[in-house]
Amino acid sequence: MKTIGILGGMSAASTQIYYRKMCEITHQRLGGLHSPELLIRSLDFAKIETLQKNGQWNEAGGILNAEAKALERGGADFIVLATNTMHKLAGQMMSGVGIPLLHIADATADRITKAGLNAPGLMATAFTMEQAFYIDRLKAASLQPIIPDAADRAEVHRIIYDELCLNVTTTGSRTIYENIARGLVEKGADCVILGCTEVGMLLNESNVSVPVFDTTLIHCESAIDLACGDN
Ligand code: GLU
Repeated sequence: MKTIGILGGMSAASTQIYYRKMCEITHQRLGGLHSPELLIRSLDFAKIETLQKNGQWNEAGGILNAEAKALERGGADFIVLATNTMHKLAGQMMSGVGIPLLHIADATADRITKAGLNAPGLMATAFTMEQAFYIDRLKAASLQPIIPDAADRAEVHRIIYDELCLNVTTTGSRTIYENIARGLVEKGADCVILGCTEVGMLLNESNVSVPVFDTTLIHCESAIDLACGDN
């Protein structure tokens, strides 16, 4: 089994889900006492969020690059960056790193295409919903992403940072997310991407009327596939 290097802590709430899910999937697949070979580097999200808010992306990219190199030195065979937003910096992060990155948007786009769908609604941070690094990656995979209107984008973003990243889930925010997901379906979405690694704390197949693609779960499954040599 290959060793997975998880670069996480962005936020710690979702990195905990990554660890639990990867352990569950490995156990389901291999049985017995099997568990994944992991290196987890969990950053202080307060520091990263300040850099995001101030637009200091180059500094943030430098940190991710140093951490990716540390995971490689530590023996990781490939890297899982456990956040959609920070894939904005994937190029800078992987500069001079000799092991591959398992890109979260590629893994997700692949699943959507295999399901025969092509118009995903996207619920994520404002960075991910509004900037080219993610939307263009989906379009390059022949998908036509649909994003919420500006007020709804602001609300999705606020709930991620003020609640979900703090491990807080409320009924009120779940209802807001359900309504925004419904709005995306009304705009023509044939599925919904939970494009932030914390959004699965509020939405799943049971409260969205179209197929849901949870980037956290897809990323974990793809990582275990790769670690076990299944793709
Ligand atoms: N985990 C989130 C994501 O998947 C947001 C936190 C961050 O900015 O990294 O985008």
